[in-house]
Amino acid sequence: MCGIFAISAKDNIIDDLFLGVFYLQHRGQQYCGLSTYAGDGIKIRTHRGLVRETFTKDLGGLDGQMGIGHTSLKDRQPLKLDSKMGEFTICFEGNIINREELTNELKKEGHSFYTDSDIEIVAKLIAQSDTFVDGIEKMAARIRGAYALVILSRGKIYAARDKYAFRPMILGQRDGAIAVSSESCSFTNLGFSIIRDVKPGEILEIEDSKFETKKILPAEFTQYCTFEWVYTANVCSTIDGLSVDIARRNLGAALAKRYPAKVDIVGAVPNSGIGHAIGYSQESKIPFDNVFIKYDYASRSYTQPTQAERDREAKVKLIPVPAKIKDRSVVICDDSIVRGTQMKNDLVVKLRKNGVREIHVRVACPPLKAPCMYGVATRSKNELAAHQKTVEQIKDYIGVDGLAYNTLEDLGQAIGKPLDQICTSCWTDKYRV
Ligand code: SF4
Repeated sequence: MCGIFAISAKDNIIDDLFLGVFYLQHRGQQYCGLSTYAGDGIKIRTHRGLVRETFTKDLGGLDGQMGIGHTSLKDRQPLKLDSKMGEFTICFEGNIINREELTNELKKEGHSFYTDSDIEIVAKLIAQSDTFVDGIEKMAARIRGAYALVILSRGKIYAARDKYAFRPMILGQRDGAIAVSSESCSFTNLGFSIIRDVKPGEILEIEDSKFETKKILPAEFTQYCTFEWVYTANVCSTIDGLSVDIARRNLGAALAKRYPAKVDIVGAVPNSGIGHAIGYSQESKIPFDNVFIKYDYASRSYTQPTQAERDREAKVKLIPVPAKIKDRSVVICDDSIVRGTQMKNDLVVKLRKNGVREIHVRVACPPLKAPCMYGVATRSKNELAAHQKTVEQIKDYIGVDGLAYNTLEDLGQAIGKPLDQICTSCWTDKYRV
């Protein structure tokens, strides 16, 4: 997962660029980078680590009227290239499924590679053209997979979203400034208002704080990543017309309707389970309470690079609230169950140690059956609890008194989009792209 942000303004954009990327930190915590243009060439700076820890005292020399930025789980971006169109920097989010095939083709065409990252392939494919719009279109025709990207050239920004719209991208404005972000949560505290989502297949050119649609690549259907509403995106964001907060409450309410439970309280696996739990509580009229607290100084376990680090962070981050647990029966809402090990080895153990009477788990999405091929890091198929186990077997494995998952139909209804317009590959193990 990654977050991308771009801004063009009449005044210096560096503080807004820094904060715009900072507010996407939840999408990737390993690397971050900024690139700006001020008429005297394109500057670029990247770091390993969190945006605020690495950039707060390191913005000197990056002043400019336009810039792009990135926060990432896996690689350093932006990437800078010099091409026949001049120098440019690029940030990318997504996954190129036919990467190996394209790398071999490009090597045969005489290209050499500095990294084994998708961004380098995308940048080299774009750089073969005479214009960025043509380059993005030709790149899109050759790759299989998902992408959202921003490019900073000398004096112009380009933003593009793949024709299936897997990855989110949204346009915002403020007096004399235009911005593009992976999520609208970047805009709110910067005083930007939402213009609209970038359309599926749209290629935008941004110059002098104005934007223009240069092309829309046609597609027969969309594949919005459903997991954005379930887990990935920030609860403050609105994605493709639907508030993430409302989507999560709808998912929780659907669980309460289909799978009621006679319990004392409804709690969440924070933070992403909170919206689902509030929805469950509001629908069932059972009070919501803090069963677990996410410690403020812990990280998002899902965005750690290795399984060992993810396991360690998952154990560290959640603290039970003993006073709310003892002698009570609880419904715990979670966004998803990946391997089930966190639930089994950590959450259930903590609840039992604190004297819980009954544990009923409600999961916002259907059982995860397949890995993501479109840029969201999920485990391999064999690691997924639901790949080999039935719901009843998972219930016994994690050691709870009840377990239920939303159905695919309820998921689609909660998000308000037809199932053939959203990506459901995680749950169906069928890939349409
Ligand atoms: S497979 Fe899952 S995580 Fe990946 S794009 Fe589809 S819905 Fe999103």
